[in-house]
Amino acid sequence: MSKKILLVGASGRMGLAITRAAAESRQLRIVAAVDRPDDGVRPPVQGRDLGPLAGLAPLGVAVGADLDAALAGAAGNGETPDVMIDFSSPASTAAHLAACARAHVAALVGTTGLGADAEAAAQSAAARVPVLIAANTSVGVTLLAELVRAAARALPAEFDIEILDAHHRAKVDAPSGTAMALGRAAAEGRGIDHDAARLPIDRNGPRREGGIGYSVVRAGDIVGEHEVVFAAAGERVVLGHIATDRTIFARGALRAADWLAIQSPGRYSMVDFLGLKTAV
Ligand code: NAD
Repeated sequence: MSKKILLVGASGRMGLAITRAAAESRQLRIVAAVDRPDDGVRPPVQGRDLGPLAGLAPLGVAVGADLDAALAGAAGNGETPDVMIDFSSPASTAAHLAACARAHVAALVGTTGLGADAEAAAQSAAARVPVLIAANTSVGVTLLAELVRAAARALPAEFDIEILDAHHRAKVDAPSGTAMALGRAAAEGRGIDHDAARLPIDRNGPRREGGIGYSVVRAGDIVGEHEVVFAAAGERVVLGHIATDRTIFARGALRAADWLAIQSPGRYSMVDFLGLKTAV
């Protein structure tokens, strides 16, 4: 049976990419769409059908602002959703997770830049519903994180770890959520505390030994590029991923949501869904 999606952040770049990807899916249907209230600055989206906003035929799903109504099946096309997909703003992630837990709807969060409040809300929601939080929903980056973990475990500590992250000029958070996830994977592989090892972005002077550094580019329309550099005297190992089209994140999110909707309550990752865990 096809899964019913509630899309949050529906009229954003990712929301519209997910809408277009869902239109090609037989397994998933968008039944409700939520975005924040019109602000008089951006073109209005409230009450408009999501289909034409995404360049498609009408879907019969108007964008609303009331998440609780959408979770209860009292918005969108009137159906109760099986799973929320949220690509919106980190400021409201904790509230969105709590609302999903109250309504017994599975939650997939692709929003990045999440704070401690979102993590606490995810832990508490996971007691009642399946929760998957992924800073990157592409298959390629999920595999990259596993390769980085394995490389960091294998290489001696004299290899400096530097993560390069390039994105479009409108991206809000820096380093990106993906870069941070790669840094955490490297720290796990090396068996060190990420936050203690993390170097400030703005740094002068010689590099602190054992530090994990981040370098950030924000320019033009770069969809997302990440490299993890392990550098020692005389050699470098470079692992990387280049996204040229945000459809990869949309398709990955939809496939993961299809899987998540039928899991037991608990915390899940893209690795759980894809089964990509490396042997080491
Ligand atoms: P965007 O600014 O184009 O879209 C965000 C949308 O969310 C906007 O339409 C905005 O009005 C809406 N929004 C903001 N607050 C809201 C709220 N409280 N309730 C409902 N809607 C709200 O941004 P984007 O490029 O689509 O990215 C969205 C998020 O997804 C960012 O955090 C970004 O870093 C992340 N992202 C994740 C992945 C991934 O693979 N996980 C990939 C790309 C982007």
